[in-house]
Amino acid sequence: MRAHHVRRAAPVALLASLTLISTPGISFADPATPATQHSVQAPAQQGEKSLDEQIASAEKALERVKKQTEDAQRKLDNTTSVHDEAKKATADARGALNQARDAVAKAEADLQRAEERLDEESSGFSFAGVVTSVLGFLGSDVTDSLREDVDDKKDAVDDAEKAVKAAERDETKAERAKVNAEKAHEQASAKQDEKQSALDELTERKRIENGEEPAEDPAAGGAALAAAEPTPAPGVVKPAEGTFTSGYGARWGTTHYGVDIANSIGTPIHSLMSGTVISSGPASGFGLWVRVQHDNGLISVYGHINESLVTVGQRVEAGQQIATIGNRGQSTGPHLHLEIHENGVKIDPLPWLQEHGIVL
Ligand SMILES: [Zn+2]
Repeated sequence: MRAHHVRRAAPVALLASLTLISTPGISFADPATPATQHSVQAPAQQGEKSLDEQIASAEKALERVKKQTEDAQRKLDNTTSVHDEAKKATADARGALNQARDAVAKAEADLQRAEERLDEESSGFSFAGVVTSVLGFLGSDVTDSLREDVDDKKDAVDDAEKAVKAAERDETKAERAKVNAEKAHEQASAKQDEKQSALDELTERKRIENGEEPAEDPAAGGAALAAAEPTPAPGVVKPAEGTFTSGYGARWGTTHYGVDIANSIGTPIHSLMSGTVISSGPASGFGLWVRVQHDNGLISVYGHINESLVTVGQRVEAGQQIATIGNRGQSTGPHLHLEIHENGVKIDPLPWLQEHGIVL
């Protein structure tokens, strides 16, 4: 991801310089961004003011994209639940169809039995023509109504087949919508990354320019750069000991928005960082969960827990035990499902943890 942004940054700078010596009749404007951003602001020798301006507009751009990502996330959540419902509706419709088919088989068996009985009885009374015809008349009355019953049940099968087809069509449509929403969300997240690193770059440049030593001095510049390197947030703690069993990403036709750490029921779960408990209790899918809002704005989510040891509003320290590993909710074995939310986006916890010195 990072490499991608770096590669992208060069053509943008090139575009900006090209626009300065702009050839008449040829537009270099990037359709995604206002042309003024490229043509007014030169890339290299920036005054303090224009760098600030650039940072302000980069911040605005990032905010806009963040909103898009949030919208995309909401849409993805919606389309996912619509698709889940559609899948369930198809399964229900198939179940109803099977029942309707069973009902036809049963009605046909009833009819066959009645016809056989009618044959036997009429042959037994062959001595009396009158009796035979009366029995025959009554018997055929019964078989007629059974035959009607079979026809009705077959009609019901036709209806059930139509219902299955309609449900399958709905499911396909819902799946397509979900796939599109996934793509849109991916694109929005990638764009957000891009805008974030653009802003990071500008902020870094400003830091260097504001440094004690002149930025022209390569050694001092390097020192300033090193000082600007993101230092690991102090007090990040591995949330649970165990085996890393599942990562973030596509899994079983859906997206797994966290990492799984498997261990036996009762294994302690620790708060990733200090913060405030914002959820503690039942959660659909997760059985029981705890969510902690951290002081740096991140939210960590601990799912499938066996027991919560904290209450909403409670202040927790990094490493404080908040829960125990469980197997509640939609879980296939005792494990901690950990999510990290950044500005409403469920980020991949693995690289984040690695950046903070924690290897699962
Ligand atoms: Zn999980």
